[in-house]
Parts: sequence; C-alpha cells; structure tokens
Amino acid sequence: MDQIIIHVDMDAFFASVEIRDNPALRGKPLIIGSLPGERGVVATCSYEARRFGVRSAMNIKEAYRRCPQGVYMHPNMEKYKAVSHRLHEIWNTYASAAETVALDEAYLDVTEKAGNLEGARSIARTIKQRTMAEVGLTCSVGVAYSKTAAKTASEEKKPDGYFEIPTPKDFVDLIIDRDVRSLYTVGEMTAKKLRAAGIRTVRDIRERQDTVVRLLGKQGRWITKLAFGIDERRVTPYRPQDAKSIGREVTFQEDVSSRRLLKDVLVLLAMCVERRARQYGLYGNGVTLKLTYFDMKSITRSRLTSACDCAVTIYREAVRLLDGVENRPVRLIGVSIYNLSGEERRQLTMEDYFSDARPRREAELRELLDALRDRYRLDFAGHSEEIYRTDTLHKTVEYMRRHG
Ligand SMILES: [Mg+2]
Repeated sequence: MDQIIIHVDMDAFFASVEIRDNPALRGKPLIIGSLPGERGVVATCSYEARRFGVRSAMNIKEAYRRCPQGVYMHPNMEKYKAVSHRLHEIWNTYASAAETVALDEAYLDVTEKAGNLEGARSIARTIKQRTMAEVGLTCSVGVAYSKTAAKTASEEKKPDGYFEIPTPKDFVDLIIDRDVRSLYTVGEMTAKKLRAAGIRTVRDIRERQDTVVRLLGKQGRWITKLAFGIDERRVTPYRPQDAKSIGREVTFQEDVSSRRLLKDVLVLLAMCVERRARQYGLYGNGVTLKLTYFDMKSITRSRLTSACDCAVTIYREAVRLLDGVENRPVRLIGVSIYNLSGEERRQLTMEDYFSDARPRREAELRELLDALRDRYRLDFAGHSEEIYRTDTLHKTVEYMRRHG
C-alpha cells in the first residue's frame, strides 16, 4: 500500500455527547438543531430518531412531522468544541499528518506509523478504545489505501464500526452496483443530472465515461477516476489561512424589514468575525454581505478593502453594501471577510499616519454598542462572551428583533 489512511468519524456526534451527559436521553429519538416551531434544520440526531426518517440538514418542520415524539434540543457548540479538541488530540498522536474535516471527523495518514495493514488495524483498534475510555463516545473507523476509500469504509459499519478497504479492487467490488451517490463527492444535484442520462450506478459511470465527462466536465473526470478506485490525494493538515473566508450569519425567527435592526445585528456579526480573524492572526482584504430574503432568494455583495481585522471596518463596509441593495424582508443575514492573508499587507493611507487609528476604531465600536444598549436595553458590559457564542448570539439577536 502506497499510503495507509484512517478516517475516523464520531457516531451522531452532538446527540451522543448530550446522551453521554444525560443518560435519561438514552434510547430516545433525540434531535439536535432548531426547536419545532423555529426556523432551521436538524444538525444531528440520534439513531433512534433516524428510524423515524429524520436526517441531518432536514428542515426542522419536516423532522417534527416525521417524529413529533422526539426530544428536541439546541446545540451546545462550546461543549462540542471542547470535546472535539480532546478527540483530535488523541487521534493525531497516531498520524504523521492529520486533516481535520469537521469537529467530529478526521483523516489520519498512518503510512509510516503503521508500516502495514496489520499495524493500521491495531492503531484503529486503539483509537476506538481510547475514544471510548477517555471521552466516553463511540466512533467509526475506516482503514484504506485512499481518502475516498477510508471515508467509505468508516461509513460502512456505522455506528461503532470498523471496516477496511485495502486495495482499489476491494473498493470497486464494494460499490460497483451501488447508487452513484455512494461516491461521496456526488451530491443530490449531480446525481439528478446523471440519472437523467440513465446513469444510476457506479458501474454505469465506468461504462459511460464519455457521457459523464460531457455532462459534468472537470467534476465528471474526477468522479470517473473515483469509480475506478483512483484517488491519490494526500492527507493535508488544515491551516486556518487556507480558509477562503471567515464569516458569521444568523437566521431570524421572523423576517426583518427594519434596516435599523439589520445594521444593529451587523455590529454583533462583525465583532464575531473580528474575534475569529484575530484568533488566527488573519486579515481580510474584502468584505461580503449575504442576505436571504423571505422568499429564500439569496444575494451576496462584496467589496474589496484594505487589509482589515477589526469589527468597525467590517461593520462599516457591510452597512455600505446593505445600503446598496433592495429593501425586502430578510430571513438571514451574514457577513464575512475574504482574500485572507496572514499579514497586514496594505498600502498606507492617510489614516495610518495618525497613530491613533486603532484606539479610534475601538472608541467607535464602544459608541455602536452604547447605541445598542440604549435601543434595546441590552447591556453587554460583562456579557460580551454572549456575542461570540453561537447559541447566545442567536438569543441576543432574537431579543433585539422582538424589542426593536
Ligand atoms: Mg460524524
């Protein structure tokens, strides 16, 4: 084996953490995400909930229709992040390179440390044991010759699963008569296009390569390779500066028409973006505003900026973008910075000749927050952490919407 890759994936992660911490939830259909009656989707659900047909990313209304007896909870992201940190710490010790895919999922290159398939098997066993012993949760592990095959393997015996796919031939034998979607890079939209051309299984892709490439272009060539088990991608450790953007968004429980309120929410979103940018020491060289209207139509508007990592600048740019778009009821608002760089590469502006630029921006932010305090009777003094946490940010924004 040219490379030996392990893919680890926690089982129903958010739900499993909540069940671990509250055994009364065990055996119940538990749905983490929005609550029934709210807007939003299912983040994760327990296997009991899956039996009712509930799935991740399903609209919460549909989930409730299928499983009204379910237990519904908001996610506690801070808790999951802490658990995730520990998990990756354990897993990474077995890899020469580790690629974090999600809070609960990683690729590990164990080629050197394992030496051979038997060695990889034993690492996989240890990872499963330690994940249970030290974190109290089950995971599924796949061992394979490629990333795609490793991911396929970890899915194969979920939950608490283990499976290996040592060679391309094993991979092809396993999936050849399965639906095209079993090549996990094939999403529902792509699958539809393929089905429309009569291509339903992986075998069909292999037999009709030309059609696949004609239909899907570059993606088609990639999918065709996968259908033959070819995937030479390496495990590449994630670096924050490789991210394309840093952003934050919120969905309102009821559509918002007030520009005043939208701008006030942008203050908080800009602060979240600033916090994350500074955590990674990154600057954006552009700001994007995203809006989804009441009719689900989304727009994004962007502006190039000089390197910025501060909330006031992000806020000001986002407001300028907001002023340039049609005023229709808004369901979701988000702001992000893009063109990220690790240094403040920028041309000096007049502002820079005055060394008080930073304190001035901080004073301006304080003024913005004072205005929020007066308008909504919200006092952020001593509660600023609440702005940065996903769950409390949503609560704060909802409070503003109701009292605006
Ligand atoms: Mg998972």
